[in-house]
Amino acid sequence: MQILKLGGSVVTYKDEYMSAHTENIERLAKEIAEADSYPLVIVHGGGSFGHPVAKKHKIAEGMVENSQIYGFSATHQAMVKLNEIIVDTLLEAGVPAFAISPSSMLNTKGKRLHELDTGLVKDYIELGMVPVLYGDAVLDSEQSFAILSGDQLIAKLSNDLGADRVIFGSDVDGIFTNNPKLNPDAELIEKVSVGNIEANVGDTTHTDVTGGMLGKLSEAAEAVKGGAGVIMVNAFEAGRVKAALRGEKVIGTLLTL
Ligand code: ADP
Repeated sequence: MQILKLGGSVVTYKDEYMSAHTENIERLAKEIAEADSYPLVIVHGGGSFGHPVAKKHKIAEGMVENSQIYGFSATHQAMVKLNEIIVDTLLEAGVPAFAISPSSMLNTKGKRLHELDTGLVKDYIELGMVPVLYGDAVLDSEQSFAILSGDQLIAKLSNDLGADRVIFGSDVDGIFTNNPKLNPDAELIEKVSVGNIEANVGDTTHTDVTGGMLGKLSEAAEAVKGGAGVIMVNAFEAGRVKAALRGEKVIGTLLTL
């Protein structure tokens, strides 16, 4: 059982409002089909679809005024659109993808995943399908609604499904000593102990509503503690995701206990 995260930076052009990176999505769909390593669950991020809409309507902070309910729906719809593009492309490549809307099957409590019926996801997997979930606008029992990041969802799915491996595909080679986009001297860390994350990765200030790399790492740490092998790879580099899915040695960062 493997879980593959396709970061928002991988499936969208982050700086172009609601613009899907169709070229990348098509290549990755082919790699996933060629890797032929099932069972598999795919979770994707929001990039330029979910994030700008959620930000505009302050969905992550919860309900303060009634007008936000339109924004809540708009955020979810933006993700449905991106999900449709990804699932259609996977199906065309021959991957038996099946779209599952997180907001229809779970809720959060104080922004943390609360109730989730993983049994349903298991049933789809047992039928031979590849569930495709995503970061979503979801109901929250304390603040009416919230944003559930794909990364938080992965941690829970990994532990509930007993995933053997979780592959985080992003737009950088892995975890660096510092943000590689801002620091040319940043070095790739091949192995990170999840007990020592903050000391290892330095300043991770990033603009995503879901907290950037440090947030991603602390969610990934939960999957490591649950027993999954977790690796972060560059999904822009042709062949990396395919190799990682096949369990081959690949450039990236391995997370260890
Ligand atoms: P995604 O959208 O792929 O899920 P994010 O864009 O949220 O991922 O996070 C990945 C980004 O985090 C990278 O593009 C990089 O700019 C940034 N980042 C910040 N600190 C680090 C670090 N120490 N190592 C690697 N990337 C980092």
